[in-house]
Amino acid sequence: MTLHLYNTATRRKEPFEPLQPGKVGMYVCGPTVYDYAHIGNARPVVVFDVLYRLLRRAYDEVTYVRNITDVEDKINAAARARGISIAEVTESTTRAYHEDMAALGALPPDEEPRATQHIAHMIAMIRRLIEGGHAYEAEGHVLFHVPSMADYGRLSGRNRDEQIAGARVDVAPYKRDPADFVLWKPSDADTPGWTSPWGRGRPGWHIECSAMAKAKLGVTFDIHGGGRDLIFPHHENEVAQSVCANGAPFARYWVHNGFLTVNGEKMSKSLGNFRTVRDVLVQAPGEAVRLMLLSTHYRQPLDWTDDGLQQARATMDRLYGALRHVWDASLRDAPSPSPELLAALEDDLNTPLALSVLHQEAARAHKVESEEEMRAVKSALLGAGELLGILSQDPAQWFRWQPAGAEVDEAEIMRMIEERNDAKKARDYAAADQIREALKAQGILLEDRPGGVTEWRRAG
Ligand code: AMP
Ligand code: ZN
Repeated sequence: MTLHLYNTATRRKEPFEPLQPGKVGMYVCGPTVYDYAHIGNARPVVVFDVLYRLLRRAYDEVTYVRNITDVEDKINAAARARGISIAEVTESTTRAYHEDMAALGALPPDEEPRATQHIAHMIAMIRRLIEGGHAYEAEGHVLFHVPSMADYGRLSGRNRDEQIAGARVDVAPYKRDPADFVLWKPSDADTPGWTSPWGRGRPGWHIECSAMAKAKLGVTFDIHGGGRDLIFPHHENEVAQSVCANGAPFARYWVHNGFLTVNGEKMSKSLGNFRTVRDVLVQAPGEAVRLMLLSTHYRQPLDWTDDGLQQARATMDRLYGALRHVWDASLRDAPSPSPELLAALEDDLNTPLALSVLHQEAARAHKVESEEEMRAVKSALLGAGELLGILSQDPAQWFRWQPAGAEVDEAEIMRMIEERNDAKKARDYAAADQIREALKAQGILLEDRPGGVTEWRRAG
């Protein structure tokens, strides 16, 4: 395996070598659970899922950690606005998140720590920062003192002016330096809080990830990921907290995905230009959504359009059409991706190149001449599918996709197909055509396959 990854910390593509041979730890910042995930939030999930699949293929032991941020002020606001408890907000949102990401073919991470279960770890870490002179208490808050760390700003490449540009807007009077950031803050009676040496309060967002990463992966681990909006301040602050509290290096490779955009602007809740994963899954099947997310290299921006999604669906139709051609070949061994496809993914997850290799392999499916060739093509298509998280269904099932809520009665369709077959056997072609047209009017297309088998699929 010669995996190369672009490392934000060094601004270079580097060969990946795990800290311990055969063993990889990866931490990806997960959702703040207060509302449905939008399709921009799904981009890192799908990108890091491909990386996870690639790593699992090459290393014996891969630990993928993706946290759930279940204590954050947006959650409190959502609970208040909806008139329900905080636990109801976080539990129902977490459930929906799991469903949505599974629908996009993302494997569950190995560990999914929740912030509320690691408060003691956060308090311990904050204590060490205070003891080491990196943090101080002021008016019930604990703040990280940025000038106490010489290397602060290295990950994001921000100079001091840029670091405080955002903070200047509301410089709290108790901050010793405008760039200092919150580790702990006081909670009033209506806000979730935990007992701490600094009074009843709750953690800041950044310390949550530092504590959970340490609890699950140890002080130094291999890969840390997330969207590029997290580089500053979130990841910069994670580095500061972890390095200063642990006295050891933190993540070794920093991997960041580019933005999913709408008309060139970042998709986000605050701009209101978002589409939830649920909305999009009504327009197209999960694998088409996933293909669209992988059609652009993960570091580039990806503009979301309905047209692009329908094209991705048509592309998946072509791939499944090819798979159907070789479906009957029985494999002797486990599916295996071609070396070309693997090489593309190992080159900093070059999914556009991998997909073009896959298209060439799909084209071969229509030209196979021997059983041996059929096997080889099927193995390559399924092997590629396993790495990319697509082509995971029986082709017949793919072509029958229907949006949730618009399901047709499959038993009724099967009954009509039989009726049509009987009509054909009786040479009553007019009746057979009538049945075909009746189904077409309901958006169901029939395809007669060799051997007298009739398959159905949804139009469009
Ligand atoms: P959030 O809940 O906003 O912290 O986002 C969860 C994850 O989604 C983080 O890794 C973000 O970087 C990522 N993310 C949010 N918006 C976008 C976007 N428009 N494009 C790509 N990634 C995004
Ligand atoms: Zn994080």
